Amino acid sequence: MNLPVRVVLVETSHPGNIGAAARAMKTMGLTQLALVKPRHYPSAEASARASGAADLLARARVCATLPEALDGCGLVIGASARQRALPWPLIAPRECGRRVIEAASRGEVALVFGREQSGLTNEELQRCNLLVQIPANPEYSSLNLAMAVQVIAYEIRVAAGGEAGLPVGREAPLARAEELELFFEHLQRALTRVGFLNPQNPRQLMLRLRRLFNRAELDDNEIAIMRGILSALAPGSARSDGSGREQD
Ligand code: SAH
Repeated sequence: MNLPVRVVLVETSHPGNIGAAARAMKTMGLTQLALVKPRHYPSAEASARASGAADLLARARVCATLPEALDGCGLVIGASARQRALPWPLIAPRECGRRVIEAASRGEVALVFGREQSGLTNEELQRCNLLVQIPANPEYSSLNLAMAVQVIAYEIRVAAGGEAGLPVGREAPLARAEELELFFEHLQRALTRVGFLNPQNPRQLMLRLRRLFNRAELDDNEIAIMRGILSALAPGSARSDGSGREQD
């Protein structure tokens, strides 16, 4: 993906969490890690927990202050386990993914995660444009740091549309708009031909069917199947010219 998204961990106490966060990032395709005053770093435990993400960890930037870690960033989103006294715009992880992808097309984005014991200070939170909160058990809403990184990184990946290639469960590319349009025209001719759609009184049938099929996000195979069915049920409806001309 190579998104301009950096994960900033503030004053992490346990090096294992730094390694696990690096791993969480790499599995989701994020690459830039910044560490603000980590308590123990570099550390064998961090490397062990990073596992196959040792490269990402080796390239992590160690910073003395949060402003230094945020240098050059446009959108800054802080991850916070609880709503503090500070009333700040708060979004959910899904929305966070969308906002990050949108902003990443215009500049660098930072995601800031707090200390294991005490999270982010009010001053640090005030450096954020937005806060993201992972909905959790209200009686125990504080996730392990690396797991919070995993959830947010996953949502960014989902919002980015995953890897290039077909999303899980898809056998063919999504139908292009012009093919969908040809399908709708075919559908309209077929419905007219079989007497289901009255051109004199169409009501909102085509609008509703368009909404239905748009929601289904048909792929190329599915469009071919639908058009095959229409041609079988209403022979000659495939084309608007020649034999397929609309009947009165
Ligand atoms: N005890 C701390 C939480 C520390 S967890 C507190 O109450 O603030 C370490 C970090 O993981 C947090 O600072 C936050 O960045 C992230 N985190 C943990 N749980 C989260 C949640 N439910 N939503 C968003 N971020 C969370």
